[in-house]
Amino acid sequence: MTITPINTNTKTDLLALTLPQLRDWIVEHGEAAFRAKQLYNWLYQRLSTDFAQMSNLPQALREKLAREASIGPMIVRSELHSKDDRTRKILLELADGKLIESVLMLYPPYGENSARATVCVSTQAGCAFGCTFCATGQMGFDRHLSAGEIVAQVLFFARELRAAPWTAAGLPGSTPIDHITNIVLMGMGEPLHNYNNVLQALRILNSAEGFNLGARHMTVSTVGLVPAIRKLSQEPLQVNLAISLHAPTNELRSQTMPINRKYPVQELIAACKDYIAATRRQVTFEYVLLAGVNDTAEYAHLLGKLLAPLKQFAHVNCIPVNATAASYRTPGPEAIRAFRTILFEHGISNSVRAERGDDIAAACGQLRTRFEKVQASK
Ligand code: SAH
Ligand code: SF4
Repeated sequence: MTITPINTNTKTDLLALTLPQLRDWIVEHGEAAFRAKQLYNWLYQRLSTDFAQMSNLPQALREKLAREASIGPMIVRSELHSKDDRTRKILLELADGKLIESVLMLYPPYGENSARATVCVSTQAGCAFGCTFCATGQMGFDRHLSAGEIVAQVLFFARELRAAPWTAAGLPGSTPIDHITNIVLMGMGEPLHNYNNVLQALRILNSAEGFNLGARHMTVSTVGLVPAIRKLSQEPLQVNLAISLHAPTNELRSQTMPINRKYPVQELIAACKDYIAATRRQVTFEYVLLAGVNDTAEYAHLLGKLLAPLKQFAHVNCIPVNATAASYRTPGPEAIRAFRTILFEHGISNSVRAERGDDIAAACGQLRTRFEKVQASK
C-alpha cells in the first residue's frame, strides 16, 4: 500500500535539481532514466507548471510526480507594472511565509542591440550585510533561498513573456520579445553568501538541455566577499561579476558598508585583479551615487586612481541612489556628469544606470518594505 504524504513540505522541488540529479531521483522512484530528460524539457523548454499536461509521461508517473514533487514554491502576493510597462515587479511568498522580490526589466531594441528582457533575482530573504542605503540591508537576514526558489523567479517571468510577448509601447514595429535574455543577481540578498545554492541555480539555468541561458548573460553582484570572489574565479561557469564598491576609501566605505571592516578596499581590489588575471573578463564596479557623501570631485579622482591599474578590465556603473527609508539624496544630472567626466579623465570606462520603475518601488527591498508597512497598518 502506498501512503500519500499529507505534509506538502516532503515534496521534492524539481527546480532545485540539475538534469543528472533529476535522473537519479527518477531512477530512485522506480522509473526509467530517460524520463528525466522528458520531464526537464517540460520544466524548462515548455515552461510547464502542471504535471497533468505532460502528455508523453505515463499517467502513473504523472500521478506520482503530483504526489511527491513540486515545480517551485511561489505564491505571487503582488505584481506591479510601471506605467510604461518596461519594469514589472513581483512580491513572492515562499512556503514558510517569507517574502522576496523579483523584477523584470524590458529594453526595446537599440541600434545594433536586439531587445532584452532581464530578470533581477533575489538570492536570500533579507540580507546580513546592512549597507546603510539599502532597503534589504535594513531588514536584517532571514534565510538563504534554495536553488529552486532562485530558479523559480526566472521561470515566473519566462512563462509570463511566453504567454504574452512584450512590445515596447510607442515602438509598434519592434519585434516582440518572448523570452528571458539576461539575469542579474541584484535583488534581495548577497549571492556569494549563499554560494552553493546560487551556483547550483545558475548551472540549472545554464543547462543546454533545459533553460539554456548562456553564462555571459548572467551577472553576479557582490558586496565584496573576498574569499568567495576568489572561489568564483575558479568556476567552470564564467558569469559576469559586478562589485558593489560605492566608495574608494576605507574610511568612507566602512561608514556605508560594514563589510568593509572585514574585507577592506585594497584586499577587494587585489581579489578583483586576481579574478581578471584568472578569467580575462571585465569587472563592473557599481557605485551608488549619494549626494554630498560619495559623489564629490575628490572621490571621483580617488576612484579613478584606485581603478586605473585595472585598465580596460574595469567598468564603473554609476547608480543614482533610489530613495529608501534612509535620508540619502540623488545627485542632480550636473553632479553625475561631473563625476563621470573625472572618471573618463582617469581612463575609466563608465556608464550611468537609467532610473526605472520609480513608480513601483523597484529598488531592491523597497516593495517588501512597503507591503509590510501596509500589512502592519491593517
Ligand atoms: N548584495 C549584492 C546584490 C544585491 S544589491 C550587492 O550588494 O551587490 C544590488 C545592487 O543594488 C548593489 O550594487 C547595491 O549596492 C545596489 N543598491 C542597494 N540599495 C540601493 C538603492 N537604495 N539605490 C540604488 N542601488 C541600490
Ligand atoms: Fe545586502 Fe547588497 Fe543590500 Fe548591501 S546592498 S545590504 S549586500 S543586498
